[in-house]
Amino acid sequence: MSQLQQYRYFKKHEKRVQKLLKKQASLTGPSPDLDLFYDLLAGYKIIEGLFHEHDTQVKTQIEQLQNRVRELEKQLSLGPENSHKPPSTSRFKKIKNQRVKSGKKPGGQKGHRGTAPELEAHPDAVVRYEPQKCRECGRPLKKVPDSEVQCWQVVDIKDGKSFVTEHQRVTKFCPDCGEMSRGDLPNESPWRHARKTFGPAVKSVALYFVGYQLVPVARTQEIMSDLFGVRLSQGTLCNFMSDVSKKLKSWEISVKSQLIRSTILHVDETGIRCAKRGDWAHVVSNEKLTLLAHHESRGAIAQKDIGVLPEYRGHLVRDGFKSYDQFDACSPFVL
Ligand SMILES: [Zn+2]
Repeated sequence: MSQLQQYRYFKKHEKRVQKLLKKQASLTGPSPDLDLFYDLLAGYKIIEGLFHEHDTQVKTQIEQLQNRVRELEKQLSLGPENSHKPPSTSRFKKIKNQRVKSGKKPGGQKGHRGTAPELEAHPDAVVRYEPQKCRECGRPLKKVPDSEVQCWQVVDIKDGKSFVTEHQRVTKFCPDCGEMSRGDLPNESPWRHARKTFGPAVKSVALYFVGYQLVPVARTQEIMSDLFGVRLSQGTLCNFMSDVSKKLKSWEISVKSQLIRSTILHVDETGIRCAKRGDWAHVVSNEKLTLLAHHESRGAIAQKDIGVLPEYRGHLVRDGFKSYDQFDACSPFVL
């Protein structure tokens, strides 16, 4: 029996014990047992007080911890995966900028050499465009030294690694008449618009990762550098995306017209983070084609801009989002 249990036992039978002890005293004379009993009782009262105090402290601590756990669960655990809410209803938490301020002014710093791409000192291949003869007097210029060489480099992937081709346009001065002549560039010279450009293999692989596998731009930079030794800036990767999206415009129109002709279409939308805004990714698909479109709006404005649903006359498979109501030409399958 624990001390507390003993105390409770004494307390419960206090009157009975007193009575018995008094009876015994009246029969046998004064007994020290009654004083002993009260001493014991006082001792057990102190012990009970300590237990009670301890219990209260523990209880308070448990309550505090339970509240903390509830708070953390609320903050962390209620994502779209486990909150039983559709992802589209989740609001985005603003991510706190953890960057430590450098104390420098924003933008390029003093002494910075600018963003002009550096050319490779040792290209893998060189293609020279030299003037064969003086454009004024016709004197052969083959043995005349170069006066100026203008360079463009194209970085591509060959045999699984970076391959740099340098195009050189040579300028020469005629020793006889002093006229300047330049080499002719081929009609098809897509590299002429910048000193350093990237070839079709680099573009295809990078776009495959960013555009199809949805790998973030910074991670794609790492992939291109680690696997092929091709260094790309984030701006260059974004330019690839923008260029290819222009080239795919007619393909997009064709996909939309095929979706419009489908008997059944599935539509949905979900929230995405874009340029610090909460935008929307819209999907329109049939059994073969999937069109993903980005829009700042969630509802009918987006659907009108994307341009499939306003033309569609079939059955929609969709959720209960109200903006779809106006596009139900036939009875929809509402999920
Ligand atoms: Zn000449």
